[in-house]
Amino acid sequence: MRFVDEVAQISAAQRRRAITDEIMDAIRVLSGPELAGVQRAAAVLTVGGGMSTAGSSGERLGPARDVVDRSEGRSFVGRTACRVCDSEMGDFGNGIVLGDVDVRYGRCAGCGLVAALDPDWLDRAYTEEINALDVGRLRRCLMMSDIVAFVLRGMGGQDVRCLDWAGGYGVLTRLLRDRGYDFHHHEPLAPNVFAKGVTASPDDGRYGLITAIEVLEHLVDPANELAAVAASTDLLLATTEPIPSPTPKPDEWWYYSPDTGQHVTFYTHQSLQQLGRKLGYRVLCGSFVHLFYRGKLPATARLAVTSPRLATLLGASIAPLDRRYGRTEADTAELGRRLRGALP
Ligand SMILES: [Zn+2]
Repeated sequence: MRFVDEVAQISAAQRRRAITDEIMDAIRVLSGPELAGVQRAAAVLTVGGGMSTAGSSGERLGPARDVVDRSEGRSFVGRTACRVCDSEMGDFGNGIVLGDVDVRYGRCAGCGLVAALDPDWLDRAYTEEINALDVGRLRRCLMMSDIVAFVLRGMGGQDVRCLDWAGGYGVLTRLLRDRGYDFHHHEPLAPNVFAKGVTASPDDGRYGLITAIEVLEHLVDPANELAAVAASTDLLLATTEPIPSPTPKPDEWWYYSPDTGQHVTFYTHQSLQQLGRKLGYRVLCGSFVHLFYRGKLPATARLAVTSPRLATLLGASIAPLDRRYGRTEADTAELGRRLRGALP
């Protein structure tokens, strides 16, 4: 039985106890006298019960960012098979994106995935004007940098080689490098503004962690587009908003994002499980953070899924400690050398 299903079946009191255990496991991973303050803060939260730790269904990341792999060259025109489980897609109604584009949505009879069946407007959806609608980008990156830093604390910290896949302007990569983490940036479609000198791709060796923040809903053909990622890491941390139940119609849910026209694929937890299976992963689904993994899952990673708000708080608490070993100055020096032509 999946962890989320187990959690749903136990009582609130049991759930609190289970999550407290999760927290304490995660805290045990955080070692060293410098983190005593963090441990005390977490203990207060745990004992006092002043903070809800049972998921964060009210958490909202804001509208999706501008970054995606548009899967150029692939077309789903006329296709009626589900993009993750290959079951039949039934008609789910029509919507309008970008103010004047009619969209036909389908819903999978097998896993519940909802998808725009003929996304042929995407070139228009990725203009700068549309991208500017995502005012929540920086807030989201700050929060995710705390969550990711917390996850990495449980698995080797600043020595873990990481990649932010489809990372937009490079904000998350820069924030995490400023905290000392060995993050690299990948993005074929948007200009690299903040992560110059540290670009990489899934094909450049193995990664201890790859992140895909608000990307899955942009993918036209998720299994194929994630294949290279799945081949290069055993831990993929992805965020996307799961479809509520009952499934909202195209004009009933903000996450369809009609103003941007960039969201084309929407997942149930079952869809995410199916997608993971295709990629050779087990999947731990949460309210918006999901982990695709092989092998043992670090306690900090599990907490990021079950209690992302607490993971954010704990991650923020260790930021001053992280920054003692930040890579900002080293990266600046390296870019300076490149600029002067000292390096190829
Ligand atoms: Zn399906």
